[in-house]
Amino acid sequence: MSAFPVPLLIDWLPNGFPSRQPLPRPMTQEVQTDPSADDIAKEVAAAIVAHKLPPGTRLREEALAKVYKVSRTKIRAALLMLSKDKLINIVPDKGAFVSKPDANEAREVYAVRRILEAALAREFVAHAKAADFRRIDAHLAEERKALDSGDVQTRNRLLSHFHILLAETVGNSVLTGMLRELSARSAVITVLYQSSHDASCSSQEHHAFIEAARTGDTERACALMDEHLQHVQTALNFSGGHQAGNDLVTALLS
Ligand SMILES: [Zn+2]
Repeated sequence: MSAFPVPLLIDWLPNGFPSRQPLPRPMTQEVQTDPSADDIAKEVAAAIVAHKLPPGTRLREEALAKVYKVSRTKIRAALLMLSKDKLINIVPDKGAFVSKPDANEAREVYAVRRILEAALAREFVAHAKAADFRRIDAHLAEERKALDSGDVQTRNRLLSHFHILLAETVGNSVLTGMLRELSARSAVITVLYQSSHDASCSSQEHHAFIEAARTGDTERACALMDEHLQHVQTALNFSGGHQAGNDLVTALLS
């Protein structure tokens, strides 16, 4: 029999579910089925984003399998998905841990981005056509909607994807690949350490960049991109009072 009290489980899960229901909220209202690996990955991701599972938390397969009443194989698949998104790190012989990027890593990631994206900004202004601007304008509208909705994960994904859209417009697949990698690392940093206010500023800076690019002002566009990346990095708050090493089993069973 399950020893852990349901209220603790509710506290840990992002959206909660009826108090007499110890399984995660079913994906449909009428039919309750076992959660898929994807469902579990989404729930855990939401808990990480909401800081209910702070950076450094160990995620035990066995405990997760108990919580979701699924096999460890399914949990492993969910953890693998999370590690691909860089939200967790799987350390051989040690287990899975919520990612814990620090200020130094952020400095390094953003330093490389500033070098790459100065060149990207220049290329973007040279290559962008009316259709590209329409596509990016639509994206910026989505960013604004996500910011207004308070959906942290969606806003973070869209803010990050803006930069990949610029790279796609330029059409250099090597540059796009490097940007994807750097954006994934940045996205983990911002989802954990960027405030809603700063996310909103980011979106405004995207707008300002696009307006400069639209008028063909290359130097201004490059300067705005550099300032934007500096702002994002310097506004990160790494002192959020997270507790490292908070074992999931302890969180659920104590
Ligand atoms: Zn940005």
